[in-house]
Amino acid sequence: MDPLTRRWRVPALDERAPKSTRDPDVPIHAALGPKVLDGGLATSLRQRGVPPGTPITTWLDEHPSAVEHAQRSFVDAGAIGLLTATFRSLPHLDSEWERHLDIAADIATRASHGRAWLWGSLGPGGRRGESWRDADASTKRAWTQSWTRAADRLGPSVHGLVLETFIDPDECLAALRAVKEARPDQAVVTSLVPTDSGRLHNGQSPRHALEALRLAGADILGFNCGTTPEGVTLAIRACRGVGPLWAKPAGGRNLRQRLVELADDCDWIGGCCGVTYKDIVVLARSVAETHA
Ligand SMILES: [Zn+2]
Repeated sequence: MDPLTRRWRVPALDERAPKSTRDPDVPIHAALGPKVLDGGLATSLRQRGVPPGTPITTWLDEHPSAVEHAQRSFVDAGAIGLLTATFRSLPHLDSEWERHLDIAADIATRASHGRAWLWGSLGPGGRRGESWRDADASTKRAWTQSWTRAADRLGPSVHGLVLETFIDPDECLAALRAVKEARPDQAVVTSLVPTDSGRLHNGQSPRHALEALRLAGADILGFNCGTTPEGVTLAIRACRGVGPLWAKPAGGRNLRQRLVELADDCDWIGGCCGVTYKDIVVLARSVAETHA
């Protein structure tokens, strides 16, 4: 059953759209216009009294109702896409990764209550100070297996998967291949972190990186985080036409104006660190007025 039909009329897929074996519930087509995502979960939890720097797994174990309330507030604000709190629950980083993936998927399912698509979030493999570029072959193998196993576990509980907050496009490409191996028919988003100038941290052009990810099978592509909303805005502008785009900029000056502008270029649009449900309300209203 489509989880959204209770509240939204979901248009039939355009007959001209390419045939796909993917889960038909996942909106990878543009028929609905820009779709609003949630904002920064860590920011929302801080506002609910969870101390800054608390690991995500501790959120799940000690503050599950705060996570659920924060996610519900984004859906109530108008988000129709919600990311699970599973960013660091990879087998090589978290000894209780299976339990944490299950808890986070349950919380997001309850918070959305059939009103939003769930995106299973998976992050980079490194601990603090570790990078894909400097990792040896056995470390890279361990991270790759981790992404495959996590996708295998989380995939059936969500509508799609999102590889988010990747600084290194090569690492994101490796994660994409690993996730597609486990879940070949599931929609996968790749989301890189740009610099404030809109380029990538290794100096690469964002368009070049997204084209490589598109060729490797990414269904939706884009950017998240940064220190201001400008980096994601500039990167998205440089990538028009590459494929369905995804943007979750960090908060900062001109955030709401940037979100509204980004909605014109993006298939999925929300926020990252510093973006609250109040910002998502403004975005959702604008999208509803402009793209109704
Ligand atoms: Zn962020």
